[in-house]
Amino acid sequence: MNAQKTSVDTLISGAKIVSMDAQRSVFDDGAIAISGKTIVAIGASSEICSDYECASPIDGSRFVITPGMINGHIHVTGDPLTRAWLPDNIDADFVEELTRWVLPRFYAHEAQDEEISAELSALKMLRTGTTCFLEAGTVRYLDHVVEGARRTGIRGRVGCWVEGQGGNKDANSTQLIDDAIAMLEREVIEHPAAEGQTIAAWPILVGHSTNPDEVWRAAKTIADNNGLGVSAHMSPYASDPAWFLERFGRRPIEHLFDIGILGSNVCLTHLAHIDESEQQLLAETSTNAILCPLAALKGVFGLAAVGRFPEMTDAGINLMLGSDGFDQDMMRQAQFASALFKDIRQDVTKFPAEDMLSMLTCNGAKGMGLDAEVGSLEVGKKADFVCHDTDRPEWQPVIGVVNQLAWLADGRSVHSVWVDGTRVVDNYRATLVDEEALYAKAAESAAAVIKRAGIDFISPWPVI
Ligand SMILES: [Zn+2]
Repeated sequence: MNAQKTSVDTLISGAKIVSMDAQRSVFDDGAIAISGKTIVAIGASSEICSDYECASPIDGSRFVITPGMINGHIHVTGDPLTRAWLPDNIDADFVEELTRWVLPRFYAHEAQDEEISAELSALKMLRTGTTCFLEAGTVRYLDHVVEGARRTGIRGRVGCWVEGQGGNKDANSTQLIDDAIAMLEREVIEHPAAEGQTIAAWPILVGHSTNPDEVWRAAKTIADNNGLGVSAHMSPYASDPAWFLERFGRRPIEHLFDIGILGSNVCLTHLAHIDESEQQLLAETSTNAILCPLAALKGVFGLAAVGRFPEMTDAGINLMLGSDGFDQDMMRQAQFASALFKDIRQDVTKFPAEDMLSMLTCNGAKGMGLDAEVGSLEVGKKADFVCHDTDRPEWQPVIGVVNQLAWLADGRSVHSVWVDGTRVVDNYRATLVDEEALYAKAAESAAAVIKRAGIDFISPWPVI
C-alpha cells in the first residue's frame, strides 16, 4: 500500500527479537530499522519491510536480537592486564589482597597502560554483547581511559579514583578532602554527559570506608546538579559495617541515609553484608544495587550465609549485574547470579530467565539513568543492540529464545553489535579496533606494569 518507503541506514528483518520493552514483546519474525543513532521502527518483518527500505538490508534469519547488555560495575584498569599474574589462592583476605596484590598493580599503571587497558576492556565487553558500562571509579588517568574506551565505540560512564582519606582512615585531611572534591567537579566538566558523548564522567567513589562525609555529599550534589549518578563500593565483607558502626554507631547504608546520599541516581556495588533495616532504606530511597556474582563467589563474600538479593528485589530494589575484575561476559555472570540464589534459597523461582535478561538490560539502564535511551529496543531509543548467532551448536535447535539466551548461550555467539547506530562488531570482529595490534600493545603494557609493581610470579607448578 505504501508507494513510497522511508529509507533508513540499517534494516534487519527476519530475526527473532527480544525487545525488553514494557510488555516484554518478543518478535518471532521481527525487523528493526535504524536511522542515524536511533531506532525508528521495530515490529513484525512484514509491516516494517513494507514501510522502510535500505540500500543494504540485512537478512536476520540467523540472529536473535537483544538490547545491548549493561555492565553495572567493572574496573577497566588495574585488573584487566595483569590479574592472571596473581596466585589464585589469595582472595580470602581482603586487606592482604588489596595491599599486597591489587593496589601495587593499580599504582604501577602509567597513563598509556590505562588507555590500553580501557580499550581492551571495552573490546572484551563489546565482543560479548555489552554495549554500556559503569566503571568502578578506580581510574587514575581519566583522559586516557576516556580516549581508549571511546575508540572502540562503546557507551560508558567513568570516574577517577577519589577517596578523600589517606592511609589512616581515621584521620581526615582538609587538603585531601578539598582535592577529592575538586577532582569530582573537574572531571564532570571535562567529560560531560552531553548529547553525542557516549563516554562521560560520573562522580564515582571508591566507597567502603575511604570517603569522608564531605566527599560523599559533594559527589551526590554534583550528580544531582548535572543529571548524573554516584557509584561506590560498599559492604562486600563485614569489615565495612564494623568500621561504620565503630565510627558512627550506624551501619553503612544507615549512615549514607543520614547524610542524604541515597537515591535513585545512586548505584552501590556488592552489598553482601547488609541487614533488613539497610535493605528497607535502599528500597525507600530507590537506590540501585549491583551484584557482581563471580567476584562475590570467588572473593568469598559469604552470599550463601548473608546475601539478601532475592529479598532485595522482592522489596522493589533495582538489581543490576557487574563483572568487577572478572569475566566480562555478562551472560555468564547472569547465570552465576541466578543459579547461586536458586540453590541458596532452594527455590527454583528465584531469578528466572526473564529476570536475568532484565538485570542485564533494562535494570542496568535504569540504574545508570539511561533508561530513556537504552536498555530496551523501542522506537526513539538509541540503536544499541546485539545480534546473537544461532548458526552455532549451542543455539540449535532454536525453540525458546529467552531460555536459550539465559542458560544455553553466552557471549561467544555474539556476531554483531551496534552502539549509537554504528556497527562496532561485525562477524565476530571489532570494526573500529585493530584487535591484533591491541593485543600486542596489551602484552607490552602488562609486562611493564608487573615489572614496576615488583610482583613476582608465584606458581605452584613448575613453569619450564
Ligand atoms: Zn569493584
